[in-house]
Amino acid sequence: MTKILIVGGGYAGFYTAWQLEKQLNPGEAQVTVVDPLPYMTYQPFLPEVISGNIEPRHAVVSLRRHLKRSRVITAEVTNIDHATKTATITPQIGEPYTVNYDIIVVTAGAVSRTFPIPGIADNAIGVKTVEEATWIRDTMIDNFNKASTMAPGPERTRLLTFVVVGGGFAGIESFAEMRSLATALLEDYPSLQFDDVHFHLIEAAGRIMPEVSEDTALWVIKNLAERGATVHLNTQVTSAVDGVVETSAGDKFPTDVIVWTAGVMAAPIIKSNSDLPVDERGRLRARADLRVEGDNGIVQDAWAAGDVSAVPDLSGGGVGGFCVPNAQHAVRQGKLMASNLVATLRGGTPKDYYHENMGAVAGLGIGVGAFQSGTFALTGVLAWLAHRGYHDLAIPTVERKIRVLTGWINNFVLGRDFVSLSARETPRAGFERFASRPRPAAPEAKADAPKKLPASSEHGGDKAAASTEKPAADTSGKTVTEKVAAEAGSAAPKPAARSAKAPAGDSK
Ligand SMILES: Cc1cc2nc3c(=O)[nH]c(=O)nc-3n(C[C@H](O)[C@H](O)[C@H](O)COP(=O)(O)OP(=O)(O)OC[C@H]3O[C@@H](n4cnc5c(N)ncnc54)[C@H](O)[C@@H]3O)c2cc1C
Repeated sequence: MTKILIVGGGYAGFYTAWQLEKQLNPGEAQVTVVDPLPYMTYQPFLPEVISGNIEPRHAVVSLRRHLKRSRVITAEVTNIDHATKTATITPQIGEPYTVNYDIIVVTAGAVSRTFPIPGIADNAIGVKTVEEATWIRDTMIDNFNKASTMAPGPERTRLLTFVVVGGGFAGIESFAEMRSLATALLEDYPSLQFDDVHFHLIEAAGRIMPEVSEDTALWVIKNLAERGATVHLNTQVTSAVDGVVETSAGDKFPTDVIVWTAGVMAAPIIKSNSDLPVDERGRLRARADLRVEGDNGIVQDAWAAGDVSAVPDLSGGGVGGFCVPNAQHAVRQGKLMASNLVATLRGGTPKDYYHENMGAVAGLGIGVGAFQSGTFALTGVLAWLAHRGYHDLAIPTVERKIRVLTGWINNFVLGRDFVSLSARETPRAGFERFASRPRPAAPEAKADAPKKLPASSEHGGDKAAASTEKPAADTSGKTVTEKVAAEAGSAAPKPAARSAKAPAGDSK
């Protein structure tokens, strides 16, 4: 049976496998999907995960649940040797191992592309994964909680300052949804005022959102400005050391949240750890029929689609002649990939990929959107409804469509759920704090034992001496539980510190 290995179960990989399951006859091929994540991420929903409009789990689609006829391996492909048709798979636990394949489909997507600006690697975060989106949401809520008990000043301003770098679609949507979250949060924090919260988007070019017209882009900037969010055009980030964002315009914005959305680059593993041909930007060189192509022509049995690849855009609308990295292309290329694979398995000829851009639609917070298709543009509520309608229909599987839609209805009726669960990162802290531990073995008390033993003593020197002092406390009359609780209490952070100072805004 032909073995098809799909590297990456995101948009293109998921759709390839999903369609193959529908089109392949039983026993015709064995499909294996390898991805370090057990789900595909519906990235256009990440900005709404940030604003709390969509529950994080609803923005991802489980691979195992929906790819029942494929083999799903939750691990990373760390090397591809197409000359021998082997791939190295590195699981989270255990040693890397190799698998053989007959056909490889590379759909490993893209990662955030950064520049060597001091402090960015250490302090910024991208918006490519649901974990990143959830971190931004929770950190914003945590910062509101912290700031609400503080007096005005630089420390509080830092907590309430949020910076996004990059004015493309992903950046603007994330920025606008962060603003939407902050505005909604303010209703629950009477000690904080609208002007206490600061939003800055830094864009190196002279405009935002190249996918929409200049007029639509200007409308978005104006709308954001009215909502208290500033877009800095023709401005570059020069440093982010210690979370202090410095710009080429001379501004300095100390912040805990720097969201980096200034571009993506093809998954670097392909360039660094495979023998497949890549272009000067590290993208897999692909033909319009999605087969990989090198200097000597077609690379047999190697296929590529999505953000990791440079697929010619036959509609003439691409940048530099290639499809731009977006979901519109990745989904359609994934579907075509499946039919082309099935066609070639059955001795047929693969078809070329052709797709004319449908336009772009952005959600910018509740009731605000921007839509552009050719010269036709919509802004405001109608565009926002178009955004929600389009994406709810576009997220794969009926099950996810229902979860997202009912989530929006729930939020409309009940309000958004703003609770931060950032404490999940230290889930055992509460348990451990009060947990009983076995009492250290009491040393044998000797009436004539010296107060302090020499360090070289076989009894352990100073440690043994220290432990001889413990029994004295045991005579306090407290039960073990009371003692442990008392000790734990003394070690705990003092709650009084939180209530000692009246919040600055409480008197308002
Ligand atoms: C915030 C945001 C909003 C967006 N909004 C839109 C939008 O409105 N419209 C639109 O058209 N596009 C949008 N996009 C772009 C779109 O999401 C991407 O173009 C699309 O996800 C690309 O699909 P892909 O399959 O190539 O890659 P991905 O969907 O990123 O999938 C790649 C997969 O490969 C896996 N992988 C990576 N390396 C390896 C490895 N070594 N081994 C195994 N697996 C690996 C990854 O874990 C991932 O699951 C948005 C993107 C973002 C970030």
